[in-house]
Amino acid sequence: MNDKELFETYATGNGNHCPFCGSDNVYSLDDDLAWSGCMEARGTVRCTSCGARWIDIMTTTGLIVVSAPSPMELLAACAEEEEECV
Ligand SMILES: [Zn+2]
Repeated sequence: MNDKELFETYATGNGNHCPFCGSDNVYSLDDDLAWSGCMEARGTVRCTSCGARWIDIMTTTGLIVVSAPSPMELLAACAEEEEECV
């Protein structure tokens, strides 16, 4: 199987199963998470059943606001920035 076929197998199992052996003993090595820009990240995943390792490519598809600045905080931040704020 090539990478594309492996990914299709992987995606069918929602990324919870090893694309090689089908085991669900797959673990993200989150320490390896490497962002390229802020829209794509890559992280190594390992299957402890067969020893396979691969890299998950994750793209940012949305955002959830956890904490929005108050209008005063926003003004203060804008005053510090050289760029124009909306
Ligand atoms: Zn495996």
